[in-house]
Amino acid sequence: MNSASGDKMPPMDLQPTARLRVLSGIRPTGQSFQLGNYVGAVRHWAAMQDEHECFFFLADLHALTEVPDPDRLRARTRESVAELLAMGVDPSRSTVFAQSHLPQHVELAWVLGCLAGFGEAQRMTQFKEKAAAGTPASVGLFTYPVLQAADILMYQASAVPIGEDQRQHLELTRDLAQRFNARYGETFALPQPYAARTGERIKDLQDPGRKMSKGIGGNGTVWVLDDPGTVTKKIKSAVTDTGREVLAGEDKAGITNLLTILSVATGRPVRDLELAYAGKGYGDFKADVAQAVVELFTPIRARYAQLAADPGHLDGVLAQGAAQAGAVAEKTMADVRERIGLLAPARQAC
Ligand code: ATP
Ligand code: MG
Repeated sequence: MNSASGDKMPPMDLQPTARLRVLSGIRPTGQSFQLGNYVGAVRHWAAMQDEHECFFFLADLHALTEVPDPDRLRARTRESVAELLAMGVDPSRSTVFAQSHLPQHVELAWVLGCLAGFGEAQRMTQFKEKAAAGTPASVGLFTYPVLQAADILMYQASAVPIGEDQRQHLELTRDLAQRFNARYGETFALPQPYAARTGERIKDLQDPGRKMSKGIGGNGTVWVLDDPGTVTKKIKSAVTDTGREVLAGEDKAGITNLLTILSVATGRPVRDLELAYAGKGYGDFKADVAQAVVELFTPIRARYAQLAADPGHLDGVLAQGAAQAGAVAEKTMADVRERIGLLAPARQAC
């Protein structure tokens, strides 16, 4: 099967006035969301809700690749809604839903899977990376990018906020959309990457050579719901580099990471921070980073505690989200089923 496009994704020139449909997801895995999820994803979601029509979902089907404990997954999905809301996602402005509440995702994934080449899927580097890192090398993990393509195309999203790690999957999504459109007629909008103006990537505090991840955890991961003492301890024991200067640089991954974190938490540019810490040691600097992160997350933890105390409300948010998302998903699938030649079920005469 040939790649339909071969064309590269154009950089997106986002006009402030254009109301794009944006879609993004997060897996309800881990102990809570982590600092990198907030910095690289959710704070941007919260900021774009007025400008764009947003769909945010909890990718609970994607979480299954890790084979989580069933009770834990259920609890974590509900907690994740509370965390997203606590971080500023607003269900009165955005559609917030659980992926598994819309069976259309799996249905479309099957259709797209029948258009995707085996070799094409084999080229996805995340499968190899995740399998090498200990995720079971299941068929589900292998076809994960196809389900991700279905998630995106279902909503005719024009923009998808993604990190560099997801770029290859978005290219596959575009290829599949173009292939479907060429074969069955124009059906899917081609999604573009939504480049946040600030694309910070937070690194693991214990191993700044790799990104902070829910799946890694441990002392290198700051959870959004960590208590202040734990945050402080983790940041103070972050691996830093030899040398004493608080300066960003390629050979100073640990300090660069802490500067990024402090910059995001305080809104001060890294350059200003470097000047402010000239001549000061790592100890003072780390204490200030810890303090800034504690201040950043304290109101979020307070809002989370309130929201988590009302599971009925959280379920209501997901129910409303499923209804809103379902209206779009059903329309897409009605078109898809018709175009690919599935016989519509006859209505039973009563
Ligand atoms: P997992 O280990 O389960 O894959 P994760 O922390 O990588 O967890 P995801 O659910 O895969 O989280 O990703 C959610 C979003 O958070 C994505 O948009 C991803 O790009 C972003 N993200 C994840 N980790 C970081 C990080 N360290 N820095 C910046 N953004 C991140
Ligand atoms: Mg991830």
